[in-house]
Amino acid sequence: MKQAIEEFAIFGGTPQFEQTLHVGRPNIGNRDSLMLRIDKMLERRWLSNEGPFEKQFEHEIQELTGAKHCIAMCNGTVALEIAVRALGMTGEVIVPSFTFVATAHCLQWQEITPVFCDIDPATYSMDTTCIERLVTPRTTGIIGVHCFGVPCQVDKLQDVANAHGLRLLFDAAHAFGVTHNGTHIGNFGDAEVFSFHATKFINSFEGGAIVTNNDEEAKKIRLMKNFGFEGLDSVIYLGTNGKMNEACAAMGLTSLASIEEFKSRNKTNFHAYQSALKEIPGCTLLNFDESEENNFQYVILDINENAFGLSRNALMKILHAENVRARRYFYPGAHQSEPYRSYYPNAELLLENTVSAASKVLCLPTGTAIGQEDIEGICTLIDFIHNHARDFGAEMGQIA
Ligand SMILES: *Cc1c(COP(=O)(O)O)cnc(C)c1O
Repeated sequence: MKQAIEEFAIFGGTPQFEQTLHVGRPNIGNRDSLMLRIDKMLERRWLSNEGPFEKQFEHEIQELTGAKHCIAMCNGTVALEIAVRALGMTGEVIVPSFTFVATAHCLQWQEITPVFCDIDPATYSMDTTCIERLVTPRTTGIIGVHCFGVPCQVDKLQDVANAHGLRLLFDAAHAFGVTHNGTHIGNFGDAEVFSFHATKFINSFEGGAIVTNNDEEAKKIRLMKNFGFEGLDSVIYLGTNGKMNEACAAMGLTSLASIEEFKSRNKTNFHAYQSALKEIPGCTLLNFDESEENNFQYVILDINENAFGLSRNALMKILHAENVRARRYFYPGAHQSEPYRSYYPNAELLLENTVSAASKVLCLPTGTAIGQEDIEGICTLIDFIHNHARDFGAEMGQIA
């Protein structure tokens, strides 16, 4: 560890870490079983369209979540688009802005207006007390996001949805393998959507799934993701192509087979961060309810600038120079991304906690690619930066 700030990479020194430590570096799982599956797939010459791997992947997700239906898809965004459409959402839909932009895009893509709702600063999930105020005669639904794998207040959201006759969808891209009151995410609202993108907890290279307990919606979703085909020649519904291919399903199955290993690595990593950062002023980690199942895929550090001595952005610059690619999830928020920023230039007036969280939060590297020594190094670095915050601030002011 460097002992003088002049040695820091941001001032021209060499980076502390030779190998870059990334947020979202994929978990791979057992390579041999992946290769065996790919071989089998080629042998069968069945590469897509309800292949055996896709069916098995869907079945295993059903078993794990306990939900009645799982429909695998090519990615989480198309799954969201199809779910929104299958649930008959139109007009306006209430969503958080503090999320990955796809939560809003899946609506705007089909000319539905996303109405941005503020978050509870303690959990980064939708503040249910704000929702009622956003309901208009055009509102048809709510999309809750289990942000960073912390479940939304699902019961309260369901109450609001029931009171106003709204559909309730969950963007569960962060919450695969997570439980709420002992029930797996995948069983709440009208449907829930998972993402199996390379950077997610379980990955299928690219992929997603809609999980629901509603038979009718499941049937509609299956038609929609395959051009509306029923049988070989008959198209009975308007559809698109949302199918998951067999290579992706093979990776998904391989990834799922290692779920306990991924979970325990993430959990160990999270606890290592927790114990090393707890004494550093201005550093607060997002906690998980450990009486539930969690995937610990996101290590979320909140920087209180006054107590820490430097802003989140300054800390991030120093970390990046040292090859720690911490990420500002979700900066600047969906409302500050196009086209929403042009459409609703004053959206931030109702999004106080979103704006604040977007300026303070830093996502730290974890997953099977990150070891205990890496985490010790990162935390020692953050501690040193805090202890020399004034000097860094002064020097960075000069080089800025
Ligand atoms: C990753 C992500 C998505 C999109 O999933 P893809 O599979 O990448 O299309 C949607 N919402 C959230 C919150 C995400 O993190």
